[in-house]
Amino acid sequence: LPLIRAQTSPDYIPDSKFYKVEAILRECALVLITDMFHGNKALLKMGIRGVTVSDVRGFGAQGGSTERQGGSEFSEGNFVAKVKMEIVVSKDQVEAVIDKIIEEGRTGEIGDGKIFLVPVADVIRVRTGERGEKAERMTGGWYEMSAAT
Ligand code: ATP
Ligand code: GLN
Repeated sequence: LPLIRAQTSPDYIPDSKFYKVEAILRECALVLITDMFHGNKALLKMGIRGVTVSDVRGFGAQGGSTERQGGSEFSEGNFVAKVKMEIVVSKDQVEAVIDKIIEEGRTGEIGDGKIFLVPVADVIRVRTGERGEKAERMTGGWYEMSAAT
């Protein structure tokens, strides 16, 4: 298991056992972070196996700057196609996941996106009704990998 040296979380983050890392990124970032064939499987290598991805359209500095002459209104044309990745992890995995998303998703140009960190009150596995840690941990995930070493 590659040991990821994560930063400590800032002290303004509300305490929770689980968090959702919600990242709005360029479409091309998805391949780098998750793709088995083209990318480097960055998250899988870390033992992150649960990810939800959606195609979204957003408005931010990137959409705004191209259309600023026309006023900063939201209009059909200035929404930019993005991907949203949602990854629920336990507290001790948060900073490593954030670091990895930045490492893979950043180009340095306007439009790289943002990450929102959201405390998650509980995780429930529908198949078994398990809750909390039992539901959050996944077969072949980070905890199993660290227990095996
Ligand atoms: P099991 O019953 O073994 O939990 P399952 O098929 O019901 O299997 P998963 O495939 O693990 O459940 O999860 C279902 C969906 O939930 C996934 O496709 C993914 O979109 C989402 N998901 C699961 N875990 C996470 C997570 N930790 N973070 C974000 N999304 C997740
Ligand atoms: N924390 C889980 C585990 O260690 C993995 C969570 C995830 O893959 N998003 O099994």
